[in-house]
Amino acid sequence: MASDHVFLSPHRDDAVLSCGGVLAALAAAERSPAIVNVFAGTDAPELERWTQPEIARLVAVEDELACAVVGASRIDLPFVAAPNRSPSYADWEAVVGEVPADDARLDAEIVEALRECGALDARPVVFAPLGIGGHVDHRIVHAAARKLLAGGARVLFYEDFPYCASEEAVHAFAFPPDFRQLVVSLGPFADEKFYAIGSYRSQVPGLFPEGVCTALARYARRAGANEFAESYWCPAEVATALRWADLPESLSGRIRAADPAGVEDREGSRTVGADPAGVGTI
Ligand SMILES: [Zn+2]
Repeated sequence: MASDHVFLSPHRDDAVLSCGGVLAALAAAERSPAIVNVFAGTDAPELERWTQPEIARLVAVEDELACAVVGASRIDLPFVAAPNRSPSYADWEAVVGEVPADDARLDAEIVEALRECGALDARPVVFAPLGIGGHVDHRIVHAAARKLLAGGARVLFYEDFPYCASEEAVHAFAFPPDFRQLVVSLGPFADEKFYAIGSYRSQVPGLFPEGVCTALARYARRAGANEFAESYWCPAEVATALRWADLPESLSGRIRAADPAGVEDREGSRTVGADPAGVGTI
């Protein structure tokens, strides 16, 4: 697999939930995006305790369908998701708590696995989670992506949906002060995203008690868009984000720099999107 656009998905549904619109736009432009499901392993000591194997198999089938809807190929890495990985993650508090010592090197191992599976062969633009919501698996994948960024890779960080539709989760999250936000209005690609999310039938009721559309609309309002949107973050020094991220023409004009409420530095002044003209070339 050598795609120019690789989406790191901590769990099977995260990339589609958070980036389904941009995935569909890339596929429509025949750019063959790829999703890497990082914690897709089933060889898990705690699996029987936390997740029924048949549910895991069902989600894998749903994921195949969702990826087909947005036009993405996919690859599964054998890392095991937190609750099934170790007894350290006995409850939700532990899952959003400190990374245990046993997992301290997982980010480096994920980088190695990405190299070995060929996902980085084409020197792709990498999409990775910000880690909003605090799930340890999202934070570990974020840390792996930071390593790629430090090594010179182009990385766009996505807001973790549906966590990012929650005011509480967003308020609790420390947005990187040296990053700038880009809001992408999805236009016609919102439909594919909506249908792709619906493919995860076993997950939707738990993820969206108030309905997918309501959550997407709430998120769009939070991101400051007046239609369905996705929000990405990239290093502030990247003034030509559209070209830097190699996004398709269909998205130009749909991307704008934003000035999200509540993103302030310690002195209380805006640090993100304070100079929209700085990204005027996108
Ligand atoms: Zn997840």
